[in-house]
Parts: sequence; C-alpha cells; structure tokens
Amino acid sequence: MLDFLTQKVHDENRQGEAYAPFAVDENQYKKHFYIESYGCQMNFADSEIVASILQEQGFGATRNLEQADLIFINTCSIREKAEQTVRKRLTDFKKAKKSNPGLLIGVLGCMAERLKAKFLEEEKLVDMVVGPDAYRSLPALIEEAETGQKAVKVLLSRDETYADIAPVRLDSNGVSAFVSIMRGCNNMCSFCVVPFTRGRERSRDAASIVAECETLYRDGYKEVTLLGQNVDSYHYFDESVGEAVTFARLLEKVAMIAPDLRVRFSTSHPKDITEEVLQTMARYENICKYIHLPVQSGSSRVLQLMNRTYTREWYMAKVDRIREVLPDCGISSDVIAGFCTETDEDHQDTLSIMEYSKYDMSYMFFYSERPGTLAARRYTDDVPLETKKQRLSEIVALQGRLSRESNEKDLGKTFKVLVEGPSKKNPDEWMGRNSQNKVIVFPKPAELKKGDYLEVTVTDCTQATLIGNVRSEK
Ligand code: SAM
Ligand code: SF4
Repeated sequence: MLDFLTQKVHDENRQGEAYAPFAVDENQYKKHFYIESYGCQMNFADSEIVASILQEQGFGATRNLEQADLIFINTCSIREKAEQTVRKRLTDFKKAKKSNPGLLIGVLGCMAERLKAKFLEEEKLVDMVVGPDAYRSLPALIEEAETGQKAVKVLLSRDETYADIAPVRLDSNGVSAFVSIMRGCNNMCSFCVVPFTRGRERSRDAASIVAECETLYRDGYKEVTLLGQNVDSYHYFDESVGEAVTFARLLEKVAMIAPDLRVRFSTSHPKDITEEVLQTMARYENICKYIHLPVQSGSSRVLQLMNRTYTREWYMAKVDRIREVLPDCGISSDVIAGFCTETDEDHQDTLSIMEYSKYDMSYMFFYSERPGTLAARRYTDDVPLETKKQRLSEIVALQGRLSRESNEKDLGKTFKVLVEGPSKKNPDEWMGRNSQNKVIVFPKPAELKKGDYLEVTVTDCTQATLIGNVRSEK
C-alpha cells in the first residue's frame, strides 16, 4: 500500500473517510473515482449525492487510490485547522499524481466555495473546484478537465436541494442513514462561514424526503437522521395538497412511516426549536429523545456579539422547557472558547451554563477567525491563543465530568437499544444506541443482527460509553 494511504487523517468523527459502495463491484465503469470527506454530516451526505451523480454517468467508486482516475476531496472551512487538514491531504495526492499523470483532482464543498479560482493558483495540482450547489455539473466539469483545462463552478443557488437525486449509501452500517432536508443557512452567526460557503437557506420538497426515508426503511434501515444547519426553520409549501409543512409536521410524517424506524435530527438552533417540535417528539416513541442545542457561549454579551439572537436566560428557559416536556431527553451542545472580547467572567458564564444545562456531550472548539465573516470584519480576534486554549481545556474538563455524571445516572436503568454492529474495541461485544444517542456496549447474545432492537440494562460506564447486559429482544 502506498505510504500516503496510511498517513491519512482519520478520526472517530469519520474525517477523511473514503467511500466505495460494494466490496466486490461487478459493474463495468468507464472511470473510477475516489472521494474523501471532511467536516460536518452535511458534507458526508453531499458526498453520497456526488457519488450518485457520478455513478449515473458511468463512473464507479473505489476505496483504492491507486485504482482512481479521479480524486475528489469534499472540504470543510469551518475552522482554520479544518482547511489545514485538507491542504495537507492534497500534498499526499501530489505523490499519486506523479505516478499517474492522467489523474484528475477535484476540490468540492466549502473550501472550494470560499476560495473559488484562487484555489487553482494556490494548489497547482487541483484540476476542478466545485462548490456545494454545482454537483450536477460534475460530469461536464470532468470532461472539461480531461481536455487539460482547469474547471471551476462555484455559483450558489437559491433553489438547488438535489431533491430528486437518490444518494448512493456508501460505507453505511446498513442501519442508520442521513437524509438532507435543507441546504444553506440564513442565520449569519458572526463567527460562522457557512452562510457564505453554502448560501441561502432552502428546504427540500417534503414528499421527496418522506419517499427517501420510506425507501431506506424498505431497504432495512432502522434509523434516519434529518439533516440541516438549522432544521427547525425547515418550511416547505406543498402545492399539490396546499399544505405548509413545518419541521414539526415533517418529523411527524417521517415518524409515521413505521413505529420501528427511529427518527433523529440535527442541528437545532435554540431560537427556532418550537413547542410544536417538542410536543411532536413527546407524541412519538420513535422520535429519539435527543436534541443537539448548541449554546456557543454562556455570556449574553458575547452571544449578542455572536449574533445568536438569544440571551443566557432565554437559553436556560429553553433547556427547562425541554426537560419539562421531555424529562428523559438527552441534550448536547457546541461551545466556542475565546470569541472576540471574551473576558474571564464571560468564560465563567460559559462554564456555568454548561453546568446548568447538564449536557450529555459537547463539541468544543476555540474560536478561529474566518475571513469574510461578520466577526472578522467587525471585531478584533483579541483573546490570546494561550488563553483560548486554557479556557477550552477547562470547558473540556467540565464536559468530561458532566458526561460521566450523566452516564452514572443511567446505572441500573434499562434502555431500548438499536444494534449497530460489533464494538470497535472488542469483536465479542456489540454496540448500539439508546434513544438519547448514548452508545451502549454489551456482550453479543446469540442470534443477534444489526438493526435489531434490544433491552439493555446498564451495569457500568465510562465517560463516553455505557456498558450493559441484554435483558431481552424487542
Ligand atoms: N448550524 C449548526 C449550529 O448553528 O449549531 C452548526 C454549524 S457549524 C458546522 C458547527 C459548529 O462549529 C458551530 O456550532 C460552532 O460551535 C463551531 N464553529 C463555527 N464557526 C467557528 C469558528 N469560526 N471558530 C470556532 N468554532 C466555530
Ligand atoms: Fe453557522 Fe449559525 Fe448558520 Fe449554524 S446557525 S450554520 S453556526 S450561521
């Protein structure tokens, strides 16, 4: 195996995952493509759309770089480090191109959108730069690049949702799948590059979402996660029946497909999650009791600078309401340390709101200024890196304690668990998730298969995982 394959950045969050649909693919293809994805779940879902568009045109996916005629890297711009990871990976591809000069390299996603043609100047080996709304043009762009010209398409669209494209489920566990319900974001949080790289918010046709979920269920999937940057602002007017579909209504439609199809969603902006959504979650057992509710900061002053449009108190009241309506709901968060002007007092507010909200889990970052964002234009990135890192380490340590405490509260409880497959650490054990999205590991009972539901009683835990014993099959 080439050495650059083994150096691949590959963490638990699937960063850099390469896709191939079949272990043994009997189909004849004119060319093979290799695609690697970075960043959020939306990017991973987009790579499945890209794979579908390419397969339709006679290109086959490969997980083997040496076999590839085309390499695509689906990129993330959210923090500087995410971009550095991609740049580093591109240097690996240089070696592949040296040994195969006909190889074409395409950069997809948010970095392509942010840097546009500049990418071609900065990274000479890149042949195609394709933004997130231009994937339908990929076959034409490949043809253009094959003639030796560089191909760029980065126009953002107001209506592209790829609603009619059935994503190719690549490297899926066959149990859970992501379904994109909207694209873009209108929120303009001042730190965030997403509104610039993914464009205006648009909701996908509700009927096509329900149809995709029905197909997944028929194919044996037992869990769908409805994806969007801000799912609670989903809104689609279905002219055929004259019905306005809100996110709550969409959730209900998907939940009604089958009682044993679990429904999850991500991400909720605290300002948009409605009472109607909470009540819908309460009504359907198969809508998972788990909400990712990013707080970003616990200081009302910083939240205002971030343009999050809620205060500390408002957020805390939202957490209270979730706990009232859904007493057993898991809540997780995103937290940013060291945003512009953040004082130690602001940081203490972040720690105390985490403590108040008792998050089961958080994604935690230090602030990374992104060119072109409102914050980059308006504020000075004035918290020293050392201070950012110190505050982040305190946030991480606190979350560690909160996660452990949350797991310890589950000792002795019995959960309905959807089995995803063997545990990564020990093949004699299997893993699944409960409704609250917590991972549970348990000894493999006889006759178990992926996609089964089990009752598992928690006997032990670590900070990240519940450990249990099977009570019965459901
Ligand atoms: N739309 C989602 C939301 O608002 O919660 C998630 C957007 S983003 C892909 C995921 C997370 O990255 C954000 O919630 C935020 O915590 C973090 N993030 C975004 N921009 C950042 C920046 N400039 N520096 C550090 N973290 C950032
Ligand atoms: Fe970025 Fe805010 Fe939109 Fe999330 S809601 S994608 S953080 S602008």
